[in-house]
Amino acid sequence: ESFTDMCLHPSIMDNVVEHKYTTPTSIQAQAMPVALSGRDLLGCAETGSGKTAAFTIPMIQHCLAQPSVRRGDGPLALVLAPTRELAQQIEKEATLGPGREIENLLYVSVKAFSKSLDSFRTAIVVGGTNISEQRSELREGVSIVVATPGRFIDHLQQGNTSLSRVSFIVLDEADRMLDMGFEPQIREVMKNLPRKHQTLLFSATMPVEIEALTQEHLTNPVQVKV
Ligand code: AMP
Repeated sequence: ESFTDMCLHPSIMDNVVEHKYTTPTSIQAQAMPVALSGRDLLGCAETGSGKTAAFTIPMIQHCLAQPSVRRGDGPLALVLAPTRELAQQIEKEATLGPGREIENLLYVSVKAFSKSLDSFRTAIVVGGTNISEQRSELREGVSIVVATPGRFIDHLQQGNTSLSRVSFIVLDEADRMLDMGFEPQIREVMKNLPRKHQTLLFSATMPVEIEALTQEHLTNPVQVKV
């Protein structure tokens, strides 16, 4: 399936073209139609496969179908990704400049694919950065939050954001998040989501812990593998 067959919002499509993405990668061809259909997805894919766009684009498309976000509203979509220790490692592989993190990369991608969409706001919420700036950004009302689990829970506990409107959640590099001990935070988020939500879980490996997480939190997921 090509990008043009996916019935993407015209602005998203413009952004895909601007990226010079002509053909979907394997993970995109498999995962995007599933994600766009509203089903839960278990994606076995590594960084470099094009998985970021595979979930970012359906996530933005999903948000565009929701009532618009107002000041004080919680986000419509949430991406949880691992922390910086790992990021630094990936940063080298990606040969980006110093100081860039995977979360930032993710965030840049979310920003890029939502470019020119009016009043579509996004926020990045990671440790090691100014929490009060993040707080005011969150309180403005954002459609999408890209976060590391620990810092996101901090904001939840401080009442700076809420899960009450989250209907789309992505667990990116879930195996690495578990390796880093983020299972309690992930569970805390998952158990407090509204009943009706769509979950996308990406993991490079599929250990039993990921199988358990999938069993527990995904509903009748489609599994795709690259
Ligand atoms: P990711 O696995 O999401 O980190 O993506 C790896 C790299 O592939 C990034 O530099 C993307 O910009 C690039 N990429 C993703 N999808 C496509 C595509 N369909 N065509 C060309 N490049 C792509």
